[in-house]
Amino acid sequence: MRLILLGPPGAGKGTQAKRLVATHSIVHLSTGDMLRAAIAAGTPVGNRVKAIMDRGDLVPDDVIVEIIAERLARPDAANGFVLDGFPRTVAQAEALSNLLAEKGNNLDLVIEIVVDDKKLQDRIKTRAEETGGARPDDTLETLSKRLEVYHTQTAPVAEYYRKTGMIKRVDGMESMDQVATAIEDYLSVATEA
Ligand code: AMP
Repeated sequence: MRLILLGPPGAGKGTQAKRLVATHSIVHLSTGDMLRAAIAAGTPVGNRVKAIMDRGDLVPDDVIVEIIAERLARPDAANGFVLDGFPRTVAQAEALSNLLAEKGNNLDLVIEIVVDDKKLQDRIKTRAEETGGARPDDTLETLSKRLEVYHTQTAPVAEYYRKTGMIKRVDGMESMDQVATAIEDYLSVATEA
């Protein structure tokens, strides 16, 4: 099973991805987590992207696509994956389609988690308090930037997948359990087809 969770920062993508991994034998691929690990390890990529991430901008497509290509080629991704935080631009979505096509694979489903901006601000504030500010980009100022980037650069990704008919919207204002149930329902239909 291969799926994408699309949604703005604070929509609950990470939480839902973790639940999917626990119930299906797939891996959770979060580009944000991969980049934070690269920064923590002090790799050349990490050093290159730190300032970009801290201000809430997007890391260049070529950097991200290379990371994802390498990650998808690892054996544990062969049984399927849930992508969280990728693709964030149409160019990334096109690169992903090419990577999958090279292996003769397809996506099963794209889930768009829809949440209004006010709710996202409240959630990011709570996340920053709960994690003691562990993420330098979890501030209200950077969140506004990340939301703007989402609306301008990532919203077109939803349009891209709408044309393929494989995208389903779920209401991210609902509880975590309700969102999880909605995703599971769409998944059963997608994998039966
Ligand atoms: P996230 O943890 O998904 O919210 O990502 C945190 C930050 O990492 C983003 O604000 C971007 O700076 C960077 N990032 C993560 N994924 C991507 C991506 N697919 N394309 C570009 N930048 C990304």
